[in-house]
Amino acid sequence: MKKISISLFIFVGIFLVFLGYIFFVVQKNSVYADVFSILHSALIVIFLSCHIGKVPERRRFFYIYILLYVALWLASDIALAVYDYLFPKSFIISISLAINELASVFIIIAFIYSLFKHTPQSQKKQLLLDLLAITVASYFLLQAAVDVTLGKINGISEFYIFYTISVFSDVLILFTAILTIPWIYKNFRNYTAIINLLGILLFTLTSLSGKYITGNYMDIMYMISPMLFSISIFCESRRGKANENEDIQNLTYPRSVIITVALLIIAGIDMILYRLNVISANNSLIISYCITIYLAISINYQNYLKSREAISQHRKIEEELEKKIAERTAELKENHEMVLTIINKDLLTGTGSRRCLLETLYTYDNPKEKYDSLVIIIDILKFKNINYMMSHNTGDKILIYVANKLKDMFSEGSVYRTDSNEFAILISNNSMELSDMQSLGTHIMNTLQREIVFDEVRVKIEVAVGYDLYSDKHTTHAELLSNAEYACKVAKNNKIKYQFYNEEIYASLTREVNIESLLTTIDYDSEFYMNFQPQFTTDGKALVGMEALIRWNNPQLGFVSPGEFIPIAERSDIIIHIIKWTITKCIKQIKDWNEKYNLDLKMAVNISPKYISTYSFMEDIQREIQENNIKYSWLDLELTETSIMGIEESIISIFSELNNLGISTSIDDFGTGYSSLSYLKHFKIRKLKIAKELIDNITNNENEKMIVKSIIMMSEALNIYTIAEGVETAEQRDILMDLNCNQIQGYYYGKPVSAKEFEETYLKKQL
Ligand code: C2E
Ligand code: CA
Repeated sequence: MKKISISLFIFVGIFLVFLGYIFFVVQKNSVYADVFSILHSALIVIFLSCHIGKVPERRRFFYIYILLYVALWLASDIALAVYDYLFPKSFIISISLAINELASVFIIIAFIYSLFKHTPQSQKKQLLLDLLAITVASYFLLQAAVDVTLGKINGISEFYIFYTISVFSDVLILFTAILTIPWIYKNFRNYTAIINLLGILLFTLTSLSGKYITGNYMDIMYMISPMLFSISIFCESRRGKANENEDIQNLTYPRSVIITVALLIIAGIDMILYRLNVISANNSLIISYCITIYLAISINYQNYLKSREAISQHRKIEEELEKKIAERTAELKENHEMVLTIINKDLLTGTGSRRCLLETLYTYDNPKEKYDSLVIIIDILKFKNINYMMSHNTGDKILIYVANKLKDMFSEGSVYRTDSNEFAILISNNSMELSDMQSLGTHIMNTLQREIVFDEVRVKIEVAVGYDLYSDKHTTHAELLSNAEYACKVAKNNKIKYQFYNEEIYASLTREVNIESLLTTIDYDSEFYMNFQPQFTTDGKALVGMEALIRWNNPQLGFVSPGEFIPIAERSDIIIHIIKWTITKCIKQIKDWNEKYNLDLKMAVNISPKYISTYSFMEDIQREIQENNIKYSWLDLELTETSIMGIEESIISIFSELNNLGISTSIDDFGTGYSSLSYLKHFKIRKLKIAKELIDNITNNENEKMIVKSIIMMSEALNIYTIAEGVETAEQRDILMDLNCNQIQGYYYGKPVSAKEFEETYLKKQL
């Protein structure tokens, strides 16, 4: 506050001195006028010096040049006063004039400096070229003007030289100031720039309009511009350091317009003056050359700048592109690694995935090493049933339980989940003997096969184990996995604890592949035929129907049991073609028999959920029945209990549709899965076929007999027929009679026989 009041005090002093000066000029008191002029300049020098340190650094030089200008002006004034009052007719007048011109030079420097400071780097050279062209052209033009004003009569005096310099510098300042206008326009809020511009315009116009003589009215005009500079330095010092980093817009002045107009004016004046014989042909020519050369250089330089700009732009884009590519690559790499972690890990159990195990085994092939690698497969039996009968949540818990047990038994990194209900152990440096491996199998079974309680439900896990150890018979390590899986399957089928992969298994594996390929190529009509097994009421008095059982006689393999080839066909869509073929055959057969013997027997045909799931299933069945004109009730479709549990909910309604049509459906091998009757009642089934496994023990195992009894009783309650499968003895038949079982199918009443034999044995007999 105190500093501001001092500044104001000085400035008021300056203004009062200025008024005093005007007063003395009006009074024509040149002595006092001179004194006040000197006092005025001196006070401004003091004012500027006091404030220069507070101006932002980037603006400071401008004011230093202005200060020098005012200081030299003061010196020139003092020198003039000395000349006027102390030593007239001395050389001092020349010194005064020289100092005065030097002052003008600093004001030029101040503005050119300011202009350069705010001109973009690339345009700085162009600005220099513009100023040079203007200066040289103006020089030759104004030389004549100076000649006209002063006349060259007296020869070249010092006054002539100073006057010439003065006019040039004025023109230059004027141009510089004009060039500053667009920038000031852009930064309009920067009023100090406007004040400075006013100051410089005033100075230039005054200077151009007449010769400076102390103590005249012109001098008043001259004195105003330093006062304006004082005001602007005061304002800038007040804004101070806070604006140090203020974003100053670079000067993009419309140089092409300004310079073209300026040069056109010069060229015009040149022509007029030449016509009036004011300037020589020489000067006129030089001016024209100057303009031409300038334009040529300028155009080329601008083109060069544009292409340089384009190149740098291009480079920038390229760099950005490269940066983006690098970023994207890094991102992709990261995603790839994430995907790898996901696919290499089993998210549920935290063990490795099948893919991860295979990848590891592939690495063992190159170079061939790890000859002692061992893969053990652990398959959780009837897992599908557990999932369906309990819940998927319980199924997940069982998987996590088994995974954790295996992780405890082996190192964590060697446990993999290779299928929904299958785990694998990879031992890459096996040192176990055969007997050790056998005891390991027993150990795995003893650890896992326990009754556990999950979600308040008791579950007894059962597993099958398969092994394969790398040998020189293997071509790749990946074979270890498929071989061990196959060995495990054999263990499962043969109901043994564990199985090592061996030559026999290899042979059966080859046979499987062979069967599968044959099933896709053979002519069904020449190789397949149907056998029929009778179904009787339990007392054996009435024949109620027959089950159609497929037979395959192949020239290469001989007779192949359906127990062998049907599961292979079920792994692919081959089963659908086989079922379609059997249905066509069976419908024709039952039509033939029932019509010929006037009967109402049911033909039971084995089908699979894969076939029911085909979108044309209902249409196919109905078409076949209608085309052959048979009763819907003559057909009975059999599906195993295990397969029905995998059926999707959307397909369950098909059972109602079949039931509505009158086609009966039976559940085959009932009692081997985990299903319950309450679960099965959603399926609208007509008949339950009690599995041979249960019937086998019905005579010696009271427990199993009770199970059969409860199945029969519950079926009665649900209005479902029961038929016992695989009845071989009278003893079994008697028990089933006691238990109220409706029907019997088994060797006791009849084995599966050819159509001809069936007709001979069971149909003709009835006539
Ligand atoms: P399945 O449907 O459980 O058929 C009953 C199987 O038990 C038949 O074996 C039959 O010959 C046999 N069997 C019947 N009574 C007795 C008995 O008292 N004692 C003994 N030991 N066995 C008895 P087969 O014909 O070898 O069929 C095996 C399996 O092949 C069938 O089991 C069925 O799942 C499948 N299969 C058979 N024919 C066809 C068919 O045409 N289509 C489909 N999709 N599967 C079929
Ligand atoms: Ca069956």
